[in-house]
Amino acid sequence: MASITLDNVGKVYAGGTRAIGDVNLDIADGEFIVLVGPSGCGKSTLLRMVAGLETITDGQVRIGDRVVNEIEPADRDIAMVFQNYALYPHMTVRQNLAYGLKNRRTPRAEIDRRVSEAADILQIGPYLDRKPRALSGGQRQRVAMGRAIVREPAAFLFDEPLSNLDAKLRVAMRLEIKQLQRRLRTTSIYVTHDQLEAMTLADRLVVLSAGRVEQIGTPLDVYRRP
Ligand code: ADP
Ligand code: ADP
Repeated sequence: MASITLDNVGKVYAGGTRAIGDVNLDIADGEFIVLVGPSGCGKSTLLRMVAGLETITDGQVRIGDRVVNEIEPADRDIAMVFQNYALYPHMTVRQNLAYGLKNRRTPRAEIDRRVSEAADILQIGPYLDRKPRALSGGQRQRVAMGRAIVREPAAFLFDEPLSNLDAKLRVAMRLEIKQLQRRLRTTSIYVTHDQLEAMTLADRLVVLSAGRVEQIGTPLDVYRRP
């Protein structure tokens, strides 16, 4: 686990659009931050800068005590969870979960331990030997989350992970992410425009508006205001 700090962070895209103004944010070890705000306010840009998928134009992002501006995405010790779960179709669930660890030469016993733990947390144990095409949408989304969990990253970054699921599944997965959070307590930034997800999951909510932090506080603080 690690804290995440944004100091005077800004982003201007190549065309000249200023997507992020001057953002300061201190995320504590183990804290779950939900980033909300209208479409185009810069949520995705901010998340992608922390992930290393966008360059940082101004300021500094730190994960723990490391300044990540210049660190390659692969070395940042974070895991992203996207809405479009990209599983390898020709591999079983177990192979999908183990693949990245194998590439990193993680010892076999350690891979097995992490895969079992992730399968347990996400209740996908019974499907470990199936291929993705034999899974439901919800099961696939769980496997995609499993691929993030087995990395045991310092932080999770969620980019609207549930927005492609139907309403019923969204509710179920929201509760599952809540349980995941209780169990792992991994520092997280979660982008959504679903108010229920925001209320349920956030330790603190950050409301962005036109690339700036408009409000920050607990869900009660933020939604109680007129
Ligand atoms: P959100 O995730 O809140 O919908 P984004 O971060 O996607 O907002 O976008 C913030 C602003 O940056 C918008 O004005 C958007 O048009 C602009 N933007 C996003 N991506 C790019 C890009 N690759 N090039 C230029 N402008 C972009
Ligand atoms: P795969 O992503 O196909 O399982 P690897 O885990 O080896 O394979 O990842 C390829 C590269 O992408 C690595 O450098 C790894 O650090 C990075 N990476 C993999 N999964 C994620 C993720 N969920 N979030 C962020 N980076 C990731």
